[in-house]
Amino acid sequence: MSLQGKTALVTGSTSGIGLGIALSLAKAGANLILNGFGDATTVLAEVRQFGGKVGHHPADVSDPAQIADMIAYAEREFGGVDILINNAGIQYVAPVEEFPVERWDSIIAINLSSVFHSTRLCLPGMRTKGWGRIVNIASVHGLVGSTGKAAYVAAKHGVIGLTKVVGLETAASHITCNAICPGWVLTPLVQQQIDARGAVDGDLEKAKHDLLAEKQPSLEFVTPPQLGELVLFLCSAAGSQVRGAAWNIDGGWLAQ
Ligand code: NAD
Repeated sequence: MSLQGKTALVTGSTSGIGLGIALSLAKAGANLILNGFGDATTVLAEVRQFGGKVGHHPADVSDPAQIADMIAYAEREFGGVDILINNAGIQYVAPVEEFPVERWDSIIAINLSSVFHSTRLCLPGMRTKGWGRIVNIASVHGLVGSTGKAAYVAAKHGVIGLTKVVGLETAASHITCNAICPGWVLTPLVQQQIDARGAVDGDLEKAKHDLLAEKQPSLEFVTPPQLGELVLFLCSAAGSQVRGAAWNIDGGWLAQ
C-alpha cells in the first residue's frame, strides 16, 4: 500500500508508540508531522530517511490553542492532515482518594480532550478532500479498569466513546475513525511502572515478568512496529469499513 501524497500527523511521536507508528507511515510513503516533547532532531532524521516531507510541531496538546496552531501549521506547510493519529498520553498511578487533582486534570486534558480538539479541527479539511483516517491510541484501559489508574482509565474509556460518535458522524463518507487498544508495550511510559515495582526488591527483570504475568497471557510486550502495521491496515482500502471500532492488540489481556 502506498500513502504517497498523504500527510499524517502523529501526536506524541518523539518517543515510544507514536514514533513507531510515524516510522510505519513514513515507510509507506506518507509525509509526516511529528509532535511531542524533547529534542526532535534525532527522530526527524529517523523519519526523513524514507524520503517524504517531515516536520515537527512542539504543541503541548493539553492546550487547545497550541493544537489549533499545530493544525494551522499542517494546513499551511503540508496542505492539511489526511491521517490523524491521536497518540500523546501520560500516566499517573495512585488510589483515587489520594489522586492529585492537578494530575487528574492534566491526564484528562492530554489523553482525552486533546483528541476532541484535534479531531474537530482536522475533520473539515478531511471532508473537503473527501478522505481521511483518524486513529485514536486508546488502551485496554479504555475497555477494562485497573486499580490506581482512575484518570487514565476514565480518559481512555472517554476516547472510545468519542471514537464511536466520530465513527458514526463520518459513517457515510470516506473518512473513518477507530481506536486501537494496546496491552503492555515496552516504552518509557511503562518502563516507569517497571522501575517503580523493581525499586521494591531491586530486581527489574522480575518486575518486568510480574507486570506481564498479571495481565498479558502471551508474556510478551506488544511492539510499536506491530501497532504501526495495524494503523496501516486501518488506512488501507481493506480497512475502510472498520468504523467506530475499539481494536485490542494485547497478548490476550482482554480474552480473560
Ligand atoms: P511515551 O511516554 O513513550 O510517549 C509519549 C509521547 O507523548 C512522547 O512523545 C511525549 O513527548 C508526548 N507527550 C506527552 N505529553 C504531551 C503533551 N502534553 N503534548 C504533546 N506531547 C506530549 O508513551 P507511550 O507508551 O508511547 O504512549 C503513547 C500512547 O499509547 C499513550 O496515549 C498511551 O496511553 C498509549 N498506550 C500505551 C501503552 C503502553 O503499554 N506503553 C499501552 C496502551 C496504550
